[in-house]
Amino acid sequence: MPPIFIGGVVVGALFLMLGLIMPRLFCGWVCPVGFMSRLLGILGRKIGINTKISVKLNDRYFILSILVLIYISIMTIISGRTYCIGGCPLFWSYAGFEVPIGSMTLVLLVFFLSGSLFIERFFCRWFCPYGSLLGLLSRFSFFAIGVNRMECGSCRACSDCPMGTLPKKGPLVDGPMCISCLRCLDSCKNNSFAVTRRYR
Ligand code: SF4
Ligand code: SF4
Ligand code: SF4
Repeated sequence: MPPIFIGGVVVGALFLMLGLIMPRLFCGWVCPVGFMSRLLGILGRKIGINTKISVKLNDRYFILSILVLIYISIMTIISGRTYCIGGCPLFWSYAGFEVPIGSMTLVLLVFFLSGSLFIERFFCRWFCPYGSLLGLLSRFSFFAIGVNRMECGSCRACSDCPMGTLPKKGPLVDGPMCISCLRCLDSCKNNSFAVTRRYR
């Protein structure tokens, strides 16, 4: 197994900083695994799979990614190597499969990628430890997605959110799941959503 990648840690920290501008900008606009999951989610819907689950359950499962984050952090400290690499689709997409893949890694890759056919961004929603770190940081982002409920016609078009977190009550799309993809701004015909400053 490879040791801790100093370069990876530095780049990871820089992308974390990006999350201070808007929640999880890396997830919504940079990460290749997120993009791949998005494409698989579209494919799933095209072949008739119902990918919707309730917003409440969806948000509750976020705790899984926190548990993965805690587990990986502890194991990394104990073992002195980057513990998540074996099963991390993010790592494999950057490494270009130059490191030999073990059978367990293959099983995990197939599990996470095929999961995205049934639930868009399956890995991103509930398992990615880096995503959960970004999600926790998003509470401190300078901008966020604001919601004008007065304009809401309850059409539910925004339930097309790739992270399954809409529709929701409150003045901000708050919480760790939003990836600032801005799809809700496009989908709402009443212009209920806007990028807004979190603190005034
Ligand atoms: S949650 Fe993880 S895999 Fe998904 S887009 Fe964010 S960093 Fe990438
Ligand atoms: S798409 Fe706009 S109008 Fe429709 S439910 Fe969502 S916020 Fe309300
Ligand atoms: S659709 Fe809106 S609420 Fe959902 S992830 Fe994208 S920006 Fe966030």
